Amino acid sequence: MMYQSFAPPKRLLMGPGPTMVHQRILDASSRSTIGHLDPTFVVLMDEIKHLLQYVFQTENYMTMPVSAPGSAGMEMCFANLLEAGDKAIVCINGVFGSRMKENVERCGGSVVVVEDQWGSPVSLEKVEQALKDNPDVKVVAFVHAETSTGALSDAQALTKLAHEHGALVIVDAVTSLAGVPLMVDKWKLDAVYSGSQKCLSCFPGLSPVTFSEAALDKVGNRKTKVQSWFLDINLVMGYWGAEGGRSYHHTAPVNALYALHEALLMVHEEGIENAWARHQRNHQLLVAGLKQLGLALLVEKPYRLPQLNAVLIPDGVDDAASRKNFLDNHGLEIGAGLGVLAGKIWRIGLMGQASRADYVERCLTILKEQVATVD
Ligand SMILES: *Cc1c(COP(=O)(O)O)cnc(C)c1O
Repeated sequence: MMYQSFAPPKRLLMGPGPTMVHQRILDASSRSTIGHLDPTFVVLMDEIKHLLQYVFQTENYMTMPVSAPGSAGMEMCFANLLEAGDKAIVCINGVFGSRMKENVERCGGSVVVVEDQWGSPVSLEKVEQALKDNPDVKVVAFVHAETSTGALSDAQALTKLAHEHGALVIVDAVTSLAGVPLMVDKWKLDAVYSGSQKCLSCFPGLSPVTFSEAALDKVGNRKTKVQSWFLDINLVMGYWGAEGGRSYHHTAPVNALYALHEALLMVHEEGIENAWARHQRNHQLLVAGLKQLGLALLVEKPYRLPQLNAVLIPDGVDDAASRKNFLDNHGLEIGAGLGVLAGKIWRIGLMGQASRADYVERCLTILKEQVATVD
């Protein structure tokens, strides 16, 4: 067998992530590897922390990228904030809420589930009732932007409710970060995790996280050690922290961090508010085009995510065959429906670099051909 270097096909990534990665970001990752404790690398780490504070809109000292995908950021939040016996409310309105439930259980916590229909936001009334019914709840966990359905929940209001009842929040901001307003300090969010491959438009494999003072207090008051050595904030912070120098914890993914730095730089150059506005603008463009094609969206207007559009597949259109056609004949990748929405929706992602008017037009042209073949 003769092996050859891998040559990926040209794709237009308009699914739930990874999304289009700008050449600048790819180029950054191909620069010479240096030591992960090299003084110049330490400067880069500091810049990454500052740029992450900017995109998260926070001054939280404990803000950094976990050296693993979004799911690891999720594990870090749960593993540090929850101890065995702690009770947590987990809001489930799609795939990712179920994973949070699984995390609480694996931390030895007990779960109160607040369930909402897939495609709807998390209900404030239900969460308030659950908090009243369970005065011993320590943490409320919810997904800000549900990528499996395209629904946006009110992170600020949910956090206010949780705090009124003495609970902290864990927020999944994997898809929301840099795509819709996310104000960590203003909304007083406690533990927040995201991913590199959605609206930041980097490649997958890194998970930006940020922790408030209140969250760090909770960690500081633990009676037991965090059960995960790799994800223990105190240990990771010895590496990412600024004061007193860095100590080796693990070897940071040096070149991936060059890429993340470049991706963050691009958001900073554009301005985070402008990035949010661009996502909104291209979403409107897509929605107008879908309407002309007679295609409807799953989520009601006020809760629609601009960066993840769940389109109802019209009767008579074969889901799998259509997506195969998009990919094979047009190089276009869009997402399939998950769970109860499998076969019912397509998920069109306009995340980060993929949120561009010309991509929206291309996607609409391809969809038009598919929809026109029905009858
Ligand atoms: C993509 C995603 C995740 C998981 O991120 P990975 O990088 O795949 O581990 C978690 N939550 C939400 C809402 C996501 O969209």
